[in-house]
Amino acid sequence: MSETRAEVPPGLEGREIEAFSLRGESFLFDVASGLALGAAAAHEAAASGVLAEVLDAAAADEQPAPPPGRGHLALMWAGECNLACTYCHAETARQPGVEVEPQTLADTVSFAERLLGNGCERVVFTFGFDGEPLLHLPRLRSLVEAVRQTGDARLRCSITTNGTLLTPDRVKELERLEVDVGLSLDGPREVHDAARRFPSGDPSYDAVLPGLFALRQSRLPSLRRVPAFVTLVPGIGRPALVAEHLIDLGFHRFTMVPARPRMGSGPVPGAQQTATLAETYGEYADRLLEALAEGDRRFLAGINPGDLFGRSVLGLCRRSRSRYGCAAGRHEFAVGPDGALYPCHAFYGAPKWACGSVSQGLDATLATEFAEATVEAKSACASCWARHLCGGGCVASAVVSGKGLRSPDEQRCALIRAVAREAVRLCVLLGEQSEQGLALLMDHAASVDL
Ligand code: SF4
Ligand code: SF4
Repeated sequence: MSETRAEVPPGLEGREIEAFSLRGESFLFDVASGLALGAAAAHEAAASGVLAEVLDAAAADEQPAPPPGRGHLALMWAGECNLACTYCHAETARQPGVEVEPQTLADTVSFAERLLGNGCERVVFTFGFDGEPLLHLPRLRSLVEAVRQTGDARLRCSITTNGTLLTPDRVKELERLEVDVGLSLDGPREVHDAARRFPSGDPSYDAVLPGLFALRQSRLPSLRRVPAFVTLVPGIGRPALVAEHLIDLGFHRFTMVPARPRMGSGPVPGAQQTATLAETYGEYADRLLEALAEGDRRFLAGINPGDLFGRSVLGLCRRSRSRYGCAAGRHEFAVGPDGALYPCHAFYGAPKWACGSVSQGLDATLATEFAEATVEAKSACASCWARHLCGGGCVASAVVSGKGLRSPDEQRCALIRAVAREAVRLCVLLGEQSEQGLALLMDHAASVDL
């Protein structure tokens, strides 16, 4: 990495400031106010004596924490897949042929209604975190039927598909069911095929594109505007290259997240892998800067809270103060075919983390443990300059790295902070170089649903 420490302007001693130089330019991030500044402008403002006042005023205008928003239930009911992706979490916990009893289905819908009662504005059921949901269309139909019977429009059904089984007829069926769809696609052919292959070893990219084009023919805008879910593999997936490809394919929204280590099995990525991936975000920030300065909005497709880089950019634009890295164990859960609850899909199948059932409700002890694992309660996070942008990281990664719920995974933290610095660089340089580009970004940030 080309990042080094930078000088903090005089008069700001005692403030919590991240001051760094990156690719030849220096930047400051004031933690209390959430303001990002170019070092030259900051030194100038400090010399005229106004900077501390500006930062104090901004810090006093603290942004409220966002409400719970969306609840999410990942239904681990597919149990099998027609692909064998190298980084798949679900591989170890798959249960082909397992039935989901009608009572479990009914209890799952009732559990979602309880989440609505606990303050969630809506709850989304996602079918497909443990395999390919199109292998189980009858199960999806039963789910949609049970949800429709509630008459509550705040409950939505969605699938995440690998796209290889999407035909025009299946797209018509998804239209009838009014199910939202997300497509797993890792980027250009050679990037996608590096990890996403059939069990025979055959590549899958060319089998996905017909499915994407079938969705694009749908009469439903939600299917035509299908988002892409990208898993980045260090050394293979470069965010700039992947984003460019997805934009060329016409995606209006995509999320890119580095592959997570598997619960109970896969290796935790090493420092070199993390550094390799972190470096590629500089290239991505440059590409975004160039596009926005030219008035090109298409790269905003990646600026959303599910995307690692997008989350930091949104946090800077909105000066939000995240208290959690995600909603796992609070209003996000995975549900097994037997109705067992887990804090999220990444915990699924690890008995230690089973946290109740859809019929009996949540295990109070684990629920409290997750609710209390705020960013302020994690000692490593308390002194981390990126804490309000990050919220305390992925708790599943923390658990896999062997430290437990309140001790984040250090490799992941190094990546999060490197990405957050690139987000600071993007926002500051955009502000200095292009009023129009910054306005595009700020308008987008204000409109994004957190
Ligand atoms: S980067 Fe790591 S230490 Fe910093 S807030 Fe996030 S999880 Fe905590
Ligand atoms: S714990 Fe990690 S994998 Fe699970 S929902 Fe949170 S961020 Fe995602």
